Amino acid sequence: MFHLRGTVYILENSEAKRVKIGVTINNPSERLIDINRIWLGTIGRCQVCGNRRLLDFNGLMPKHVLSGKHCSGSHALPLERDKSLAIEELKRLRDELECIQGKSKGSAVKRIKSLEKLIDEPQDVQRFTGSWSLRASLKSEIAYQVEELVHETLHMYLDRSAPFGEVFSCSAEEAVVAIENAHSKLGLTSQIAQS
Ligand SMILES: [Zn+2]
Repeated sequence: MFHLRGTVYILENSEAKRVKIGVTINNPSERLIDINRIWLGTIGRCQVCGNRRLLDFNGLMPKHVLSGKHCSGSHALPLERDKSLAIEELKRLRDELECIQGKSKGSAVKRIKSLEKLIDEPQDVQRFTGSWSLRASLKSEIAYQVEELVHETLHMYLDRSAPFGEVFSCSAEEAVVAIENAHSKLGLTSQIAQS
């Protein structure tokens, strides 16, 4: 058990309807920068070749190659956010198939099948929407204990699919109440700063 002084913070992504409740010994704003970078820089799947890559800071696929050639999925949104490029590519390949003979026909059929599979994949819209902002913070002598108690209280809201830990599907208001309750349960009075 830590007894370190720190700041318990609530980051909110209102569009994705998620909050992150963590603790830091630094300024929570620094943590916020990292979190937004991770959120945008998460690995995504290319709409055209289906490979997973780390997205650039704009949330787009980086420039990459497919069978030694420029992949047209470069600089596009990943499959998790958009399928229009995959649908376009599938249509183009189906049209081309009419005029293909011999060996290359087999590989075109393979590509068509893999694109059909990609298009059928469920879209994870919630994960990539919105951005994170600092909602509230509380400086405490027992920050780590408060955090642990809050995580226990809200465990039924824990979102395990988030690309980083301590993400909950409750509202920011519920998170504020949980922090205040945890703090008073541990014998301290709260002065939570909301932004
Ligand atoms: Zn690609």
